[in-house]
Amino acid sequence: MTDTMALIDSYADQVVDTSKKMIPIKAISPESGGSGESARADFLQSLIESFGVAVKRYSYKDGSGTERPNLVAVYGDSPRTVWVIAHMDTVSEGDRSLWEYEPFEATVVGERIYGRGINDDGQDVIAGIYALKALKESGAKLAYSYGLAIVADEELGSKYGIQKLIDEGIFKKDDLIIVPDGGTALGDEIEVAEKGILWLKISVKGQQVHASTPDKGVNAYRMAIKFLAEADSVLHSKFTSSNKLFEPSASTFEMTKHEKNTDSVNIIPGLEVSYLDCRVLPEYGLDEVISTVSEIAKRPEFSAASISVETFNREDAAPPTPADSEIAELLKRSVGRVLDCSPKIVGVGGGTCAAYFRQKGMNAVVWSKKPDTEHRPNEYALVSDMLADAKVFADMCLQR
Ligand SMILES: [Zn+2]
Repeated sequence: MTDTMALIDSYADQVVDTSKKMIPIKAISPESGGSGESARADFLQSLIESFGVAVKRYSYKDGSGTERPNLVAVYGDSPRTVWVIAHMDTVSEGDRSLWEYEPFEATVVGERIYGRGINDDGQDVIAGIYALKALKESGAKLAYSYGLAIVADEELGSKYGIQKLIDEGIFKKDDLIIVPDGGTALGDEIEVAEKGILWLKISVKGQQVHASTPDKGVNAYRMAIKFLAEADSVLHSKFTSSNKLFEPSASTFEMTKHEKNTDSVNIIPGLEVSYLDCRVLPEYGLDEVISTVSEIAKRPEFSAASISVETFNREDAAPPTPADSEIAELLKRSVGRVLDCSPKIVGVGGGTCAAYFRQKGMNAVVWSKKPDTEHRPNEYALVSDMLADAKVFADMCLQR
């Protein structure tokens, strides 16, 4: 029996070769002007099948009639599965003139592989595949089965990707889910939670008059200042919970944008439109924040004006995955063994496949070891990071 970790190290050339073949096969969503993931899925499917592992392809048709393929492969016969969820779709190259390298060719410079989508999330599509190959080839005894889901449509909301796979019932309640779609260059952070995001648009209507006769109108600006100051103070004194997973640890409520009111100094403005940016800890619901601000608007001291509170944008936070959950602990131990570091448990902005699992009451963590180059010109990934991620994924399944 060959050592699984040594096998992964021996795959370095294959990892580079796969990157070189994959990057030119574009996988951009039809909504962004691309032709979808089918060609890339064909390539990845036959690569996995060449290891003697069966791949199940879940295809869905999107609004344009394009196939949106998702690949699922499982190795091992343990009833519980460690799942690696990586997405194969990418964004476009953006402004081509900002690229020093061909975006849709792999350019290898030392340890780095440049190319669109190689970091987000190509690195972990490839790491996930080579972890599978190593487990199969080594024949090592597994504590958990290893599942790899290579999904479509992550960049534009996962409607034809992980959301569909979750609905298919592929993932069981006690499976262990890791989403390697974000991380740090050292691989020293495990993300388990995200804050909710709420943008409120506050319109205060008064009555516009000449500045010399304020009694004839209602100064919307004065009302807005008083209202915003009150809302600011109520929000900060009501939503006081602090959660040390997050940085900052409290919810934040900030007055930000302010629309232009009047052109003249001698006009009392009749309309004042301002915005609040709220980042709310998952222990609170966004509806509670909205109703708190709306209630203030109804108070008698503001009755001379008419104040409307509208939701400009909202993204509710899914319930966090506990820091001491089995998946977080298992991953922490494997990262410790492979990278010799003790990763911090954190909460951040969110926006990955993990949120859909959390919304369904399943624990999921986001982790990988990668530089922050996603969606940027000259996106790159490190071969050593791909191998490190593959080792961590494989290590999580090994029996000890
Ligand atoms: Zn991504």
